Amino acid sequence: MPNHNQYLFLLSFSLTFGILLLVSFWVSAFLTARDIHLRNLILIGLPKDPQHPEMDVHSIQDFIKTFTQEDAIALVQTPAFLASAGLAAVAFYWLAFSGERKPVLNPNEWKEFPLVLKTQVSPNTAIYRFSLPSSKDVFGLPVGQHIQVSAEINGKDIMRSYTPTTLDQFDKGHFDLLIKTYEKGNISRHFSLLKIGDRIRVKGPKGAFIYNNKLTGHLGLIAGGTGISPMYQIIRSSIWDHSDATTINLIYANVNEEDILLRDELEHLHHNSAGRFNIFYVLNNPPPGWKGGVGFVTKEQVAHYMPSQDKDCKILMCGPPPMMSAMKKHLDELKYPAPRTVSKLADQVFLF
Ligand SMILES: Cc1cc2nc3c(=O)[nH]c(=O)nc-3n(C[C@H](O)[C@H](O)[C@H](O)COP(=O)(O)OP(=O)(O)OC[C@H]3O[C@@H](n4cnc5c(N)ncnc54)[C@H](O)[C@@H]3O)c2cc1C
Repeated sequence: MPNHNQYLFLLSFSLTFGILLLVSFWVSAFLTARDIHLRNLILIGLPKDPQHPEMDVHSIQDFIKTFTQEDAIALVQTPAFLASAGLAAVAFYWLAFSGERKPVLNPNEWKEFPLVLKTQVSPNTAIYRFSLPSSKDVFGLPVGQHIQVSAEINGKDIMRSYTPTTLDQFDKGHFDLLIKTYEKGNISRHFSLLKIGDRIRVKGPKGAFIYNNKLTGHLGLIAGGTGISPMYQIIRSSIWDHSDATTINLIYANVNEEDILLRDELEHLHHNSAGRFNIFYVLNNPPPGWKGGVGFVTKEQVAHYMPSQDKDCKILMCGPPPMMSAMKKHLDELKYPAPRTVSKLADQVFLF
């Protein structure tokens, strides 16, 4: 299959060729009407054709001198000229304004993307960057949704979900996945073994949650480990959208301080949020002088940092299953509605 650039080349080549052909037809017809024969012009300097008397070169200069305003008007009104001008305008528009590309993701088709960069961000977690076919391409993932990644491992096709940290409105030509490697994990380990240039198979978008700036007045986010990926996407989209007034409070739990993922990015967003976005970190093993939470996330911390259930709010959660079970219990005791087994966008408590 030709790619976008090859299509563009073929199109511009055909248009240029078509325009030149039409213009040559028109010039030929115009000159013939004035009894000037192109064949004689082309044969200047070659032996004379007795059938066609040689044309004097000076007659071209005479022709230019006698070219009147009426001739110009007649020229621009000819169908060939109008068709040529129309084609030229289409070609110009296409070349100048075809920068926005169609989304690359397709929910019904597996697509392959090569790894172009791997950045280790904690002892067991890395950001994997995959390139799209063109540097102008957008991935096509609505904010809050995720993708499926599939790989053949020991003869079996295995599939897992991942949430890119990149956003269509800011990131063109690539997408990033923040992935924690589990020693005995299937797909996460497969990622850790990828070399630059290796491809992964991806399908999407998937998922019931799509963020927009009118969704709710207050967002309460509870994340553990790589569960920060969907949260980061939503926070980033909301904070850089100046028409978005949603307040966002995040509780982010990890084992050690070096496990806190995207910390600089989250703090940058906090400092640029004009008070709209606040973070409370919780660590199992805090360093001396730690000011955040210690141990597991408690019911009191949920009550303090999350918007109360009687407000226009939504609670979003993503993290390891044991942590999510504990959070559901806290929320239940605080009178939030229980999340469904498979969450829906309309739910007040949404579990990714
Ligand atoms: C909507 C959605 C979005 C997700 N987004 C991301 C993301 O952006 N980044 C990311 O890293 N993950 C994300 N996940 C989790 C991801 O889909 C996989 O579950 C994870 O990478 C483990 O898959 P695996 O095939 O390596 O391990 P599996 O083959 O499923 O598990 C094998 C073994 O790995 C270990 N293991 C696997 N998962 C865990 C865990 N959570 N805690 C402790 N041990 C574990 C256990 O030892 C387990 O027995 C997301 C999940 C969902 C549902």
